[in-house]
Amino acid sequence: MILDIVKYPNKFLAKESKVIDNMGYGEKKDLKNMLDTMRANKGIGIAAVQVGILKQLIIVDIGKGNLIKLGNPKILIKKGEISIAECCLSVPNESVKIQRANEVLVSGLNENNQEEIKLFHGLEAIAVQHEIDHLNGKIIIDYKV
Ligand SMILES: [Zn+2]
Repeated sequence: MILDIVKYPNKFLAKESKVIDNMGYGEKKDLKNMLDTMRANKGIGIAAVQVGILKQLIIVDIGKGNLIKLGNPKILIKKGEISIAECCLSVPNESVKIQRANEVLVSGLNENNQEEIKLFHGLEAIAVQHEIDHLNGKIIIDYKV
């Protein structure tokens, strides 16, 4: 189901998302709806808070055949630097250049309730960091000086 996207300046986006206990039926349904909503809006990433759900769930798909769905994602190691002008489905008509790590090692819960550790590079790493920011109530506007 395609859901409405919470948009800036809605203060809901500044809320912190809650750690999930496991990937239950509800979480899998949330991920399905998040994916439908992300695809419908041609995004490369989405966090649950962007569709009004305060759970630590993110999806990233930069269009290279690797669909990432993670619960409770956590960055373990950061390496290197990269920056691009980032866009956000919650902040239409705005882009902000943000310095990120070029490589991140991330742990999280996959859809099969298994803890995984994955390494991401480049655009995928940027998108993962962008979505984890959302879980901490941070959006691209917050990087503007
Ligand atoms: Zn965003």
